[in-house]
Amino acid sequence: MSDATDARREQLAGNLDAVRRRVAAACAASGRADGDVEIVVVTKFFPASDVRLLAELGVRDVGENRHQEAVDKAAECSDLEVRWHYIGQLQSNKAAAVAGYADVVESVDRAKLVSGLARGAGERGRPLECLLQVSLDPPGSDHRAGCDPDNLAALADRVAGEEMLELRGLMAVAPLDADPQEAFERLAGLAERFRADHPGARVLSAGMSGDLEQAISCGATHVRVGRAVLGERPLIK
Ligand SMILES: *Cc1c(COP(=O)(O)O)cnc(C)c1O
Repeated sequence: MSDATDARREQLAGNLDAVRRRVAAACAASGRADGDVEIVVVTKFFPASDVRLLAELGVRDVGENRHQEAVDKAAECSDLEVRWHYIGQLQSNKAAAVAGYADVVESVDRAKLVSGLARGAGERGRPLECLLQVSLDPPGSDHRAGCDPDNLAALADRVAGEEMLELRGLMAVAPLDADPQEAFERLAGLAERFRADHPGARVLSAGMSGDLEQAISCGATHVRVGRAVLGERPLIK
């Protein structure tokens, strides 16, 4: 093992440890059990070698947001026991291909994606876990991504109606220039109503490097953490 690999492993181990302690502290602060919140490590822009080191360090869930990068990395890491979460915006003509390697698609935000995802899962021969991405942007704003909360129930019915798709819950990103606490409180209300209709869909994926504490205080079951584990992403690629 080269010195560079050892140094990178040590850096990732230290960062991961710090994030795990932040998550544990946030759980404690909300009176939630330790281990109530899972960490999805977002490896976008970073090489397959980092995924390998993370797997050695006990990471079981990794997130990617661009199809071409994700499909290549998943192939390079096919011997690892990691679960691939697709968290990026999805084009409908790529949906079936993403279902070919993703274990979870967290960014299902419109009905147009549903048939492609179901077809891809069918071709792979196993059900695909889906989260619906809901927009927390104020009404009327230029939505970054995510389903309008008013359309969530209809989208959920579409996903739940597909035999090869498993509706697991919701995902959201806090708006750029707003208080994440306020946004995640709204999300908690949406999730509560959503679970009344879909009691089995209890995943709430919210919170990133900068706002995971606020998300956990509002009931997140999964946080998606990139920079705090891997370091700053290169600006261009
Ligand atoms: C990149 C990304 C993250 C991780 O963000 P960090 O600030 O690096 O922790 C989480 N969720 C989504 C949807 C992302 O695209």
